[in-house]
Amino acid sequence: MTDLNRRKFLSGSAAAVASSQSLGQAFAQDAGASSDLSARLTYPFSVPVLPYSYEANEPSIDAQTMRVHHDKHHLAYVSNLNAALKDHSELQSAPLQDLLAKIQTVPENIRMVVRNNAGGHANHTMFWQVMGGKGGEPGGALAAAIQRDFGSFEKVKEDLTRVAASVFGSGWALVQTDRAGKLSLVAKANQDSPLTEGLYTVFGNDVWEHAYYLKYQNRRADYLAAWWKVLDWQRIGERYAAAKAGTLSV
Ligand code: MN
Repeated sequence: MTDLNRRKFLSGSAAAVASSQSLGQAFAQDAGASSDLSARLTYPFSVPVLPYSYEANEPSIDAQTMRVHHDKHHLAYVSNLNAALKDHSELQSAPLQDLLAKIQTVPENIRMVVRNNAGGHANHTMFWQVMGGKGGEPGGALAAAIQRDFGSFEKVKEDLTRVAASVFGSGWALVQTDRAGKLSLVAKANQDSPLTEGLYTVFGNDVWEHAYYLKYQNRRADYLAAWWKVLDWQRIGERYAAAKAGTLSV
């Protein structure tokens, strides 16, 4: 959505903005937003279209899981976030990143809902971006940073997989970076996001059961191993560069 379109869109009544119809319009207008790493994500939020087909990550991640995960789970976070902000016009101009970075200033009665659902929107937007590839290994500045901060690609792969396997309950295992490009590993519970600490996710994996249960049931380790085969290292390298440049949206 262009800024002009967004302004026009936002000039509609709050009630219209909150309706499912306007959510559908936002969905259509945001087509392609997921391929723009610097796209400013603002209210009313919408689920970005997948930059590849539902089948693109087969056989590591089946199309049915992609469909339910993207079309239902991600949409639920977005819908809940929009509903929470509906009567808070003072928060509606804040980009998603700022909502999370300034979560302590969000009114207490909606703070947890915003934290969970803005985090869910940010985490899933990242998640779709980093997949759709053919695995392999990173190159360029990201490869050099991985070597510097973890020792080797094999080491970060092993460590991230171990962190992901040990997340108790629902959460994420992420490689995050600060603005200087320093990488670190982190496990996040629920839909918590590094953005609340002023850090960026470079890439990472969703270990909620909804991400893998249809195909893998309780075999989380098999899902974790298969996930590395669909990463798009070109894209992940672009996220790393954008994070350092301060232009990464989420
Ligand atoms: Mn998920």
